[in-house]
Amino acid sequence: MITLALSKGRIFEETIPLLAAAGIEVSEDPEKSRKLIIGTNRPDVRVIIVRATDVPTYVQFGAADFGVAGKDVLDEHGGEGLYQSLDLKIAQCRLCVAVQNGFDYQNAVRQGARLRVATKYVKAAREHFAAKGVHVDLIKLYGSMELAPLVGLADAIVDLVSSGGTLKANNLVEVEEIVSISSRLVVNQAALKLKHEGLQPLIDSFTKAVK
Ligand code: ADP
Ligand code: MG
Repeated sequence: MITLALSKGRIFEETIPLLAAAGIEVSEDPEKSRKLIIGTNRPDVRVIIVRATDVPTYVQFGAADFGVAGKDVLDEHGGEGLYQSLDLKIAQCRLCVAVQNGFDYQNAVRQGARLRVATKYVKAAREHFAAKGVHVDLIKLYGSMELAPLVGLADAIVDLVSSGGTLKANNLVEVEEIVSISSRLVVNQAALKLKHEGLQPLIDSFTKAVK
C-alpha cells in the first residue's frame, strides 16, 4: 500500500490534477465526506487527510509514504527524516510582514523600537527580524493573525498572503515580503528505498505534470 498525506482545501484541490496525470482518481471528496482515509481507483494507493502542519510529521514517521506540504510548513518543521523531492508549484503565496494601515513600520524599525509580532510562523519570523537586526517580541498564534493588530495584541503580523484580500478586508497593508511559498512533494526516506517500485513512477508522473 502506498499512502499519500494531503490537507483539505487548496492543497487537496490543486493536487487532484497532478494525481490525474498519474492516472489516479480519489473516490471521495474530503469536503463532503468525513472520512480521513480515502481510497482511489488504484487498490494500492490511498490518501489520508491531515492538518497541513501535520503532513511532515506523518511522512517523517512513515505513517504516510509521501505528502504535499507548503514550504512554510516544511521550514517550520525542519524537514527531519524527509526527502524533499519536488516543487509542485501549487498553493503559491508569500510570507509577509503586515501592519495596520497608517502604522509607520519603516519608522518603527528605524528607531530601533521593540516590535510586537504575532504569527504562526515563529521560526521564520525570528530569523527574518534577527537578520534585519530588529528587536521583536513574538506572540505565537494558531490562526486569524489579521485580528492581532486591530485589537492591540501586536504591531505587526507575519502571515501568508496570496491575493491580499484578507489583509484589505481587515485594514492591513503588506510592508515586507519574507519569502515566496509553494507546496512541495516530500517523501519518507525509508519508503523511497523500500517502496521504490511503487513510489518512483508516481514521483516521475508528478514531475512531468509540473513541467
Ligand atoms: P490551515 O488553515 O490548516 O493552517 P491552510 O489551508 O490555510 O491551512 O493552508 C495550508 C497551506 O496552504 C499553507 O501551509 C500554505 O502553504 C498554503 N496556503 C495558505 N494560505 C494560502 C494562500 N492564501 N494562497 C495560497 N496558498 C496558501
Ligand atoms: Mg488558513
